[in-house]
Amino acid sequence: MLVETCLRKGLGLKAHRVVAVREDGDVIVAEIERIGRRRLRCSGCGGAVQHTAGRRPPRRWRDLRLRDRPLVLAYRPYRVRCPRCGVRVEHVPWAARWARVTTALARAVAVLARKLSWAEVAAHFGLDWKTVAAIIREAVARGLKLRRWRPLHVIGIDEVSRAKGQRYLTLVYDLERHRLVWAGEGRTRDTIDGFFRWLGRRRSRAVRVVCCDMWDPYVEAVRAHLPQAELVFDRFHIVQHLNHAVDTVRRHAWRQLTGAERPTFKRTRWLWLKNPWNLKPAESRRLSALCRLNLPIVRAYLLKEEFQRFWDYVRQGTAARHLTYCLGWAMRSRLECWRT
Ligand SMILES: [Zn+2]
Repeated sequence: MLVETCLRKGLGLKAHRVVAVREDGDVIVAEIERIGRRRLRCSGCGGAVQHTAGRRPPRRWRDLRLRDRPLVLAYRPYRVRCPRCGVRVEHVPWAARWARVTTALARAVAVLARKLSWAEVAAHFGLDWKTVAAIIREAVARGLKLRRWRPLHVIGIDEVSRAKGQRYLTLVYDLERHRLVWAGEGRTRDTIDGFFRWLGRRRSRAVRVVCCDMWDPYVEAVRAHLPQAELVFDRFHIVQHLNHAVDTVRRHAWRQLTGAERPTFKRTRWLWLKNPWNLKPAESRRLSALCRLNLPIVRAYLLKEEFQRFWDYVRQGTAARHLTYCLGWAMRSRLECWRT
């Protein structure tokens, strides 16, 4: 394969080809030309354009080295008559609009700059420091632009504890793309406010659904910053709250019981909290005996179980009706802690 063809394939040229490769002192120069009257692209909108309007002066772009010699692409870009943008310079497929290096070289520079200092990167590629700085600025701007194009619609807010329950981290996920988007120290209102400051008001408007646990600072912050968003509590956290409520009722009942009644209720804590299908036969019998007594704990227990059927409904309407029914029941149940 000729070196010209090799370069053309490497650069992915369609409307252009490499007509000559020559030495210019220490540098290898690849001369590029348009193939016949192939369609060019407009640098304004990227669309294909048929008509040209003269050419610009010759330009050079630094590319990746070729056998340890600096490689330069040389070309005189056309001016094109774009039906949408008017007269513009053509878009060249090997480089960004005002770049003095090819996209391939810019990518290599950006990758290496994560490991080495900018001065080392400049020395490695034989570029001056300013060019490297410009490439990195461009890469960062492009990254931010890409991020802007992917707005957050569904986010999840979660807390994790580092070092056994004492130090907390708040994590925010993009649940559509399964990516972590933000992390902050702590789990206070201040922490979560930090996320919303980072997100900014404009980007906040795209958020439609927030999934988080029923931790008050999160709930308050979401209501304050994202009034348009739907709040969703996940099943694990809701069941945790239901169980907590049942347990509160149980402890309350325990204090009210007289000495004679206490043995019946002794060691029943896990009975009330376990899922019924996980109960052993003996536990099941004991639970149904307790259920015959019309006590607040029984009402709380039945309410918890009833509420959990919510997840068995497939159709949205039925599930919503069931939820309304349960909430009505909770309100009438005379169980203080259930009404919130
Ligand atoms: Zn255009």
